[in-house]
Amino acid sequence: MTDKRNPSHDPRRSLPSVDALLRDPTLHAMSIAADHTQLVAAARQALDEAREQITAGEDAPALKALAQRVGEIAQTGHAPIPLPVINATGVIINTNLGRAPLSEAALAAMRAVGGGYAALEYDLAGGERGSRNALAREALRLVTGAEDALVVNNAAAALLLILSALLPGDRREVIISRGQLIEIGGGFRIPDVLRQSGARLIEVGTTNRTRAADYAAAITSATGMILAVHPSNFRIVGFTESAPLGDLAQLAHDHALPLVHDQGSGCLLDLTQFGLAAEPTPMQSLAAGADLVCFSGDKLLGGPQAGIILGKAASVQTLARHPLMRALRVDKVTLAGLIATVRHYQRGEALTHIPIWRMIALTAESLRARSAALAERLSVAGIAAGLQPGESAIGGGSLPGATLPTWHVALPAAAHGDLNALAKRLRLGRPPVIARVYRDHLLLDLRTVPPENDERLGDAIMRGVRGEK
Ligand SMILES: *Cc1c(COP(=O)(O)O)cnc(C)c1O
Repeated sequence: MTDKRNPSHDPRRSLPSVDALLRDPTLHAMSIAADHTQLVAAARQALDEAREQITAGEDAPALKALAQRVGEIAQTGHAPIPLPVINATGVIINTNLGRAPLSEAALAAMRAVGGGYAALEYDLAGGERGSRNALAREALRLVTGAEDALVVNNAAAALLLILSALLPGDRREVIISRGQLIEIGGGFRIPDVLRQSGARLIEVGTTNRTRAADYAAAITSATGMILAVHPSNFRIVGFTESAPLGDLAQLAHDHALPLVHDQGSGCLLDLTQFGLAAEPTPMQSLAAGADLVCFSGDKLLGGPQAGIILGKAASVQTLARHPLMRALRVDKVTLAGLIATVRHYQRGEALTHIPIWRMIALTAESLRARSAALAERLSVAGIAAGLQPGESAIGGGSLPGATLPTWHVALPAAAHGDLNALAKRLRLGRPPVIARVYRDHLLLDLRTVPPENDERLGDAIMRGVRGEK
């Protein structure tokens, strides 16, 4: 029972124990075909849900309702999966929301191989074992012109594999600029990943300026590699200098060392057409002389989570034969989705078929029209909403500071009260809506909402504003 007279009393503490729930006659009356372990798990989930509801400001559910919910969960096998959400933040590549939404073709390819068997590592002509990497390799080579290609679990795995496989035992020093020792989010720092391989990082230059001469001065008989890392998620402005990749390639090769470029976002298209600053492509890094380039599959490539390595065949083959490859390889579903995504580039249809590129390509005028329609619909329903010009972000540690002009549907605090509370109700609604609060408005950016979801978004906002589920 919730004691509402005593504000210091936490209603979450009034929830029943798992044992009490499992003894409840309501649950027994449902005659669920589940064993004790499954019922305990269902009870824990029902209690978690109840705590979440209470945190959201709702009353604690009655024992009978909770017991009923335990029965439902146990009956339907409702293991929690990540809920699909409507991303109205305007941040296109959002790591916390799962990075890149996939194209129809990628999803179809993943579905086709996921539900059955596939010639994944099987040579159909010979009826014998084949290479897991062969098809992705061909697709990536066709699009990038790289000599060779390899796919692993993510870009962090690519770095771990590259350093583990390419550094000779007696030359484990890797030279890296102090301006590129980055943390990529979630507390993960590139230097820590690199050290896992047994590499010793030799930091050169200063935070804002590193020249090729700084790298040259650090080369010793223990040097095994020069590493350039894209400072993806921050920007140093002002008095800055970094060594051009071409100069580093020259330096590395003069000393018979490999040059590796961790590119992070892996942008294959020209961003200047959208008014964004040019981003070096993996092809340009290879042309500048990098031996290997690595990047994520789920950032600007717009595919599933993967780490892609491109470069010289001899180096790539050394990686492919390394024992760690077995621990870092990807499954059939990822490979199918990745190859289907890469094919969009090959066919010149990336801008129209890959969701993140469609979002990047949306014009402010088209967003204004959709936003005006949504604001109008809300207004007609008696919900105060206006339009405001704003900026969408690429996000995901890609292109820091780069923004695209957009229009926000803006719900004013003057009409809606506590905007953080409203944002929370939207997050806890079904479907959850992720919005931003900025100063005295709650902002919704339709750039990251597929147009076919505009109506569902409108419905969800109405329910959130009215405090319904
Ligand atoms: C994002 C990023 C990574 C990590 O990529 P994951 O695919 O998430 O492992 C590594 N390096 C750079 C420069 C990045 O931007």
